[in-house]
Amino acid sequence: MARVALVTGGMGGLGEAICIKLAALGYKVVTTYSPNNTKAESWLATMKDQGYDFKAYPCDVADYESAQACVAKVHSEVGPVEVLVNNAGITRDMTFKKMDKVNWDAVMRTNLDSVFNMTKPIADGMVDRGWGRIINISSVNGQKGAFGQTNYSAAKAGVHGFTKALALEVARKGVTVNTISPGYIGTKMVMEIPQEVLDSKIIPQIPMARLGKPEEVAGLVAYLSSDEAAFVTGANIAINGGQHMS
Ligand code: NDP
Repeated sequence: MARVALVTGGMGGLGEAICIKLAALGYKVVTTYSPNNTKAESWLATMKDQGYDFKAYPCDVADYESAQACVAKVHSEVGPVEVLVNNAGITRDMTFKKMDKVNWDAVMRTNLDSVFNMTKPIADGMVDRGWGRIINISSVNGQKGAFGQTNYSAAKAGVHGFTKALALEVARKGVTVNTISPGYIGTKMVMEIPQEVLDSKIIPQIPMARLGKPEEVAGLVAYLSSDEAAFVTGANIAINGGQHMS
């Protein structure tokens, strides 16, 4: 029986690559999209044309009730989630001087509360079944901080705190919990940065002198999802071209 993998934010740059990789490995892939996403149907149709029959559910991962309802639907219509990839996220960058409560809360809720909201209705089932993989997508900026990102850096650092604590609680039950911290990956989120800023400020920070590829992150997710990764838990795995080594 194919394992069910739930990837939040699968219609974004990293999420799509993760969905495709897991589907290619035989997982039954389910994803979520924001309730206000008007392109979900066309994304699903494009994926279908490419041979991927994904199921997708509207879900505001920042909202506890919405996440509970979404996971309940996935469980009843597809099956219990065995691999959870908490990937959905946003940025709202501004210096701390300009940072207001709205943009602080939006980033904390979407990047950190979401991990609780989605993991809560899934983790107990993994423990009961004796197998599960929880993979949280954080960021290099959660490891080292970033100018203009007090909100994002705090939320992403919090994600790894969550990972380590939950990893301890479920370690004897066949469930692993890990964080992936990508550096700059060439998705829409990063390609919105003006090219001259990429060339003058960002690429020079990366020893490999290039952006990462979504497929490279997806490959790491695939490994952490596998049986072979059973002894890896509580880890924060950097994938950043050498930009930050800790
Ligand atoms: P995208 O902006 O391409 O995708 C983000 C995804 O998150 C979208 O699919 C979006 O769904 C979803 N999302 C946002 N808010 C919500 C919400 N409230 N409820 C449900 N879904 C939501 O970003 P990336 O693919 O680049 O990033 C994916 C993850 O990787 C994020 O957590 C990001 O912080 C992290 N990351 C990315 C890096 C990069 O260089 N790209 C570097 C380090 C970390 P929808 O489109 O339906 O709104």
